Amino acid sequence: MTTETTFASLGLAEPLLRAIADVGYTTPTPIQAQAIPLVLAGGDLLAAAQTGTGKTAGFTLPILHHLSTRPAQNPKPGRPRCLILVPTRELASQVEESVKTYGKHLPLTSMVMFGGVGINPQFAALKKRVDILVATPGRLLDHLGQKTVDLSGVEILVLDEADRMLDMGFIRDIKKVLAVLPKQRQNLLYSATFSDEIKALANGLLHNPGCVEVARRNTASEMVEQTVHLVPQAHKRDLLAHLIKQHDWQQVLVFTRTKHGANRLAEKLDKDGISAAAIHGNKSQGARTKALAGFKSGEVRVLVATDIAARGIDIDQLPQVVNFELPNVPEDYVHRIGRTGRAGASGSALSLVDSEEMGYLKDIEKLIKRSIVRVEVEGFVPVPRPAGSVDERPPRPPQQNRGGRPQQGRSDAGRGQQGRGEQGRAQAGKGGQPNREGRGQPGGSRQGQGAGKPAKAQPATAQPRSGPSGRKPRPQAALFSSKPGARGH
Ligand code: AMP
Repeated sequence: MTTETTFASLGLAEPLLRAIADVGYTTPTPIQAQAIPLVLAGGDLLAAAQTGTGKTAGFTLPILHHLSTRPAQNPKPGRPRCLILVPTRELASQVEESVKTYGKHLPLTSMVMFGGVGINPQFAALKKRVDILVATPGRLLDHLGQKTVDLSGVEILVLDEADRMLDMGFIRDIKKVLAVLPKQRQNLLYSATFSDEIKALANGLLHNPGCVEVARRNTASEMVEQTVHLVPQAHKRDLLAHLIKQHDWQQVLVFTRTKHGANRLAEKLDKDGISAAAIHGNKSQGARTKALAGFKSGEVRVLVATDIAARGIDIDQLPQVVNFELPNVPEDYVHRIGRTGRAGASGSALSLVDSEEMGYLKDIEKLIKRSIVRVEVEGFVPVPRPAGSVDERPPRPPQQNRGGRPQQGRSDAGRGQQGRGEQGRAQAGKGGQPNREGRGQPGGSRQGQGAGKPAKAQPATAQPRSGPSGRKPRPQAALFSSKPGARGH
């Protein structure tokens, strides 16, 4: 693909080119340049791409092209021609927003469907024409059960962030949906990682797929300055407050392992005069939207999030990410720090690591094939805490599933509590269907870039730069033989 590729040269319909011009894109991103011709050609697609690569337009544009240039077969209300399945409600909203943006000069209709909100407005929307349906699997199954949606007319299926959907336990739901789709259709599967489970799904779903792969815009080892502070769990909150003040960080995304921990940290920072908000699945959609908006506008300096809540929050080029606790799944570390240093900007990711988390740190270093610099903090005097303070609990339960992807849970606390359906999915007999966490709005401000850096960098000695020996690294994505080993995960 040459650098002269333009949206026009890709063969997209004129109303789409106008919409692209309206949003100000001049050149297709690499994933768009590769994927759009393949999708326009009508074949199945397997794409390795993550948020931030422009993948959404990469599938939305050719889908809109297809739907606008070929006649609908048997059009009926509530009978979509394209189904886009996504793991979270926020991603669903964002994707549907993209559909609207790029399809604004076309007479096509779209609908977003997810749990955690009333189902009646969705019933009403399904009584009208819906060409493109963007849905999370759980709520879609609810509608299928109630026969309020008819998937027999689906010409194109997209599984977006398929790895996340599997991580979140959606495989059965996806299979149920696949079972009611027409056999003859185009399938597009997007995934950031390629576990055996994803490969099995792809093998069963895709026919002679075209494969595209783009590297992350930044990789863990390149654009992001990574440091570790070794600090007991009990002192982390004070240390973080100290660092934020010391470096005058104005926009910090902090990851905690638990929802409760996120709340407590946000409260503590607020008490220390640092405006902070927590987002996680126990927060209402309204509260999360408000927190995100505050963070983007600069009103909220620190956004404390669990992994799943942060997933897909489309805030690019954050100057500072902090891992208040390390994730127990090393890939999550890469996702977390991918929040900073995007699009060629430099960023900084700081991890506060208790001695109990050293195993996680080693797994991460093995994955990213480098050791992370340990840094001492100057001028931080830990405040003694009363015995039995909640902060003195060990940071996490005994390590399980290290180095492997958990079956159901990821690094948010109480995975079991998160269940597998979207928030509010009320289905008796399916177990609790509590909160689904997810993404926020697109856009995002850019502040505090180039904030001060922690002092006294000391190279780690425990691990060689090439990564510690021992357990074999996770298998690389064998699906993409053209770039062996190019994928970090
Ligand atoms: P995505 O990876 O789909 O989440 O997109 C990441 C961001 O890139 C979104 O904010 C898009 O609006 C933006 N974007 C997508 N395509 C382009 C393009 N060709 N040029 C510039 N920005 C783009």
